[in-house]
Amino acid sequence: CGIVGYVGPQNALDVVLEGLRRLEYRGYDSAGVAVRVERDGEGALAAAKKAGKLANLEKVLADAPLPESTIGIGHTRWATHGGPTDRNAHPHLSADGRVAVIHNGIIENFAALRAECEARGIEFRSDTDTEVVAHLLEAAYRDLPAGPGRLAEALRVVSRRLEGAFTLVATHADEPDTLVASRRNSPLVVGVGDGEYFLGSDVAAFIAHTREARELGQDQVVEIDRTRGLTVTDFDGAPAEPVAYTVDWDA
Ligand code: GLU
Repeated sequence: CGIVGYVGPQNALDVVLEGLRRLEYRGYDSAGVAVRVERDGEGALAAAKKAGKLANLEKVLADAPLPESTIGIGHTRWATHGGPTDRNAHPHLSADGRVAVIHNGIIENFAALRAECEARGIEFRSDTDTEVVAHLLEAAYRDLPAGPGRLAEALRVVSRRLEGAFTLVATHADEPDTLVASRRNSPLVVGVGDGEYFLGSDVAAFIAHTREARELGQDQVVEIDRTRGLTVTDFDGAPAEPVAYTVDWDA
């Protein structure tokens, strides 16, 4: 339902929670966040999610705070597949815990993809259509060579297999500077700040920080990277140009 992503020098959790508050008007039944952290010199993901209002999630975070981070994602969910429970709230993590995904929309062919993952021995931890994406991304990323653009390429590989409507945002524990997102039949906007980038299901997610927006077209993937900047392609990797505009309404 509501999507926020952040890469930059501010504490990601603060930015993401503020964005989620601004998206509350859309209505939702649960909420969650994930941030990329460093643990013993290694990247890891830390997540928290809770059914009910954002205040419930904030209570969880107050009791078990997440570390400071420069990368974060957040979601408010309007359940379509699986009840509005803690475990069905987004983000969804891959089996190895190194990929986190949030999703708006419906993956129409999730049942076949889930069966495929289960045949490989993966145990699902939710009843959502979304969780398959986390597992497919983990595998696609592992199959690609290390280097710039790896996570974006993994998301293109996975996006090509998905039917239905989706805005997806994904983060990987091994990618300290990069967030990726993808869309089909569901909106995705990038906010461009000074040395920082935002992702949102609509501009309300980042209007408090920047008015410079880029709207993604149908079937496109965006990579936002702290050093390489913004890269948009279609699902096959061909360069694409997002529509640039300045938000001119008052927040
Ligand atoms: N279909 C997904 C779910 O039920 C996403 C719903 C949404 O757009 O919030 O978890």
